[in-house]
Amino acid sequence: MEANSTGEDCCVKVGVHIRPLIGDERLQGCKDCVTVVSGKPQIQIGSHSFTFDHVYGSTGSPSTLMYDECVAPLVDGLFQGYNATVLAYGQTGSGKTYTMGTSLKDGYETGLIPKVMNTLFSKIETMKHEIEFQLHVSFIEIHKEEVQDLLDPNSVTKPEVANGHSGKVNIPGKPPIQIRETSDGVITLAGSTECSVKTLKEMVDCLEQGSLSRATGSTNMNNQSSRSHAIFTITMEQMRKLHPDGSNSDTLTDCMADEYLCAKLHLVDLAGSERAKRTGSDGLRFKEGVHINKGLLALGNVISALGDEKKRKEGVHVPYRDSKLTRLLQDSLGGNSRTVMIACISPADINAEETLNTLKYANRAR
Ligand code: ADP
Ligand code: MG
Repeated sequence: MEANSTGEDCCVKVGVHIRPLIGDERLQGCKDCVTVVSGKPQIQIGSHSFTFDHVYGSTGSPSTLMYDECVAPLVDGLFQGYNATVLAYGQTGSGKTYTMGTSLKDGYETGLIPKVMNTLFSKIETMKHEIEFQLHVSFIEIHKEEVQDLLDPNSVTKPEVANGHSGKVNIPGKPPIQIRETSDGVITLAGSTECSVKTLKEMVDCLEQGSLSRATGSTNMNNQSSRSHAIFTITMEQMRKLHPDGSNSDTLTDCMADEYLCAKLHLVDLAGSERAKRTGSDGLRFKEGVHINKGLLALGNVISALGDEKKRKEGVHVPYRDSKLTRLLQDSLGGNSRTVMIACISPADINAEETLNTLKYANRAR
């Protein structure tokens, strides 16, 4: 099977999502300081100009176009056995959760993950007579370099799910979740919940349960959700069903060259990219900031090493091991896998400095 069979040379694509000015910003009388060059994927802010693969403006509903251009090729790749990663990057409040579609407040319809799930199940529907599919999802959070399980039925807060547990119940002494690598380079998570899902509804339930668990945790823990990376992972196994007459339809032969394929798609809502606030005597907050910077810093280094073809050819070291985030994504960033970063930005002038930082970070990926 040809790697990058869709003709992409660079393994990291970058799209920018500019949200509209929101209530607070309007109330404060903020001005729009971001300009999109008409007809080009180019953004201007102050005297700076950046070109990306795609730019989605703040008017209309860009999510369908964003899905079609940025994410649909990754979902197609999943059926061909390619791992993939979608990353939402940006400062807190820039629209990462909205873009990914895990916002309890905005609903799921607007976002990318629900579109992924819909596409996945409608594709499976057309292929299931020939191929047996097995799907698993996991939903974890990396906070302060520790992996937490958002699907752990024992820490579920929703009363009606999971064996009638209500309230947060953690199993004392439960071993921490560990990131492991098999001898053939497959990264696995030991100790996290892997939910087997058969239907769209079951997958949506997992997403909702994990999102709720994340949101609930954040009110208790110093707004943890803005300082943690949330990773929703769909793992898909495909097994060709045996045909007594040995015939296969042409379309399926095109889609799948092997008898067994396994690939995963990580959908990542990254921690807020803003610098840790050092105000007050809040040492704890500073420590969190340091750890989150570690993940985003390592990710930036990994992605820029992957994006630099010259460096890649010279076999320059890709620093996956520098953080839990990059370690976990190691087999789904670079190599044959496909990566899309959606840089989320606010158009408001009060956020100009962070917006510029975000665009610079995203620019390194190209
Ligand atoms: P983040 O996850 O980056 O902290 P959110 O996704 O929570 O940001 O978005 C912050 C606020 O902006 C929310 O109130 C959300 O409803 C709003 N918002 C984000 N993106 C959009 C958009 N494209 N259109 C309208 N409102 C948006
Ligand atoms: Mg968020």
